[in-house]
Amino acid sequence: MSEKVCVVAGAGGFIGGHLVDDLRKRGAGRIRAVDIKPEAEWFRRFDDVENLTFDLSEKQACIESCKGADLVYNLAADMGGMGFIENNKALCMLSVLINTHLLMAARDADVSQFFFASSACVYNAEKQKDAAVTPLREEDAYPAMPEDGYGWEKLFSERMCRHFAEDFGMKTVVARFHNVYGPFGTWQGGREKAPAAICRKVLEAVHSGEHAIEIWGDGKQTRSFMYIDDCIEGIHRIVEGNVPEPVNLGSNELVTINGLVDIVEQIAGVELQRTYKLDAPRGVNGRNSDNEKIRDCLGWEPGIPLREGMAKTYGWIREEFDRDRNN
Ligand code: NAD
Repeated sequence: MSEKVCVVAGAGGFIGGHLVDDLRKRGAGRIRAVDIKPEAEWFRRFDDVENLTFDLSEKQACIESCKGADLVYNLAADMGGMGFIENNKALCMLSVLINTHLLMAARDADVSQFFFASSACVYNAEKQKDAAVTPLREEDAYPAMPEDGYGWEKLFSERMCRHFAEDFGMKTVVARFHNVYGPFGTWQGGREKAPAAICRKVLEAVHSGEHAIEIWGDGKQTRSFMYIDDCIEGIHRIVEGNVPEPVNLGSNELVTINGLVDIVEQIAGVELQRTYKLDAPRGVNGRNSDNEKIRDCLGWEPGIPLREGMAKTYGWIREEFDRDRNN
């Protein structure tokens, strides 16, 4: 692996930051970390890699980023939790420029592989109406009726990867992430996802002494959540295994949002009065990952228990929360 130049697009973000760290630990040769955010705002920044601040929706920025590259991981997207994607559909769809220009630049740089981070939001909404959901299989993305805005962009970009492989002989691999959580991610500001938002709300309740929490929706909607270490391990395995066609990368430990709140309450050692904001963005009623394909292809699937991952996540958010309060 030591000769490879790996480009991580979206390296200033949650998953990108963890991927850069892991590539360093695995002894990947040159690592080029790229993000639109000023470096001071990256969740994780490492001095021993090349760090670039570029807007990757611009083609020239993608050309510069892919110079001499052998492997490109595209984790850059304008995204957030349900509160963000339901209210910013155009911004989400504009991420199509990032993947399109990166694919073109990667093709012209003759890279050996291109990884695209897709999402469970590509799945047909009809299959996600029931909280007791049947886990989603890869073929359930068609006929297409994905999450408006964000999901359509992901589905379109998946197709783009497929056609760059078919028409230009590029090796493209696509993973459909299902709700990733962990330390060094967004936990406040409007882009945070449910696990981080619930940790923050529990901390706020403890700090204020009010011992109340507002939950978006009725709390009965179901999801699965994958701890970041499983996500990073899965990315490597999918790239190394050159898994064809999009594949689910998610936990299949199904939990209701109420169940997730129970877990965080137990970790924090509190019990809170719950209120339900029924008109808040809440997404589909039920979503889980069917892992048969990843098991068949790789003999592996994400397995870190939710309770274990949430304890680490809560611990990190508590440190951030305390630091914010003390500043
Ligand atoms: P994130 O928001 O923490 O990271 C994305 C990064 O992309 C950000 O740092 C952002 O600044 C950067 N970016 C946005 N526009 C850019 C541009 N024009 N040029 C360069 N950089 C740009 O999100 P994340 O959770 O780390 O997600 C990484 C990828 O995984 C995204 O493609 C996301 O859609 C996908 N995904 C994430 C989840 C999840 O649960 N976190 C689930 C499904 C899919």
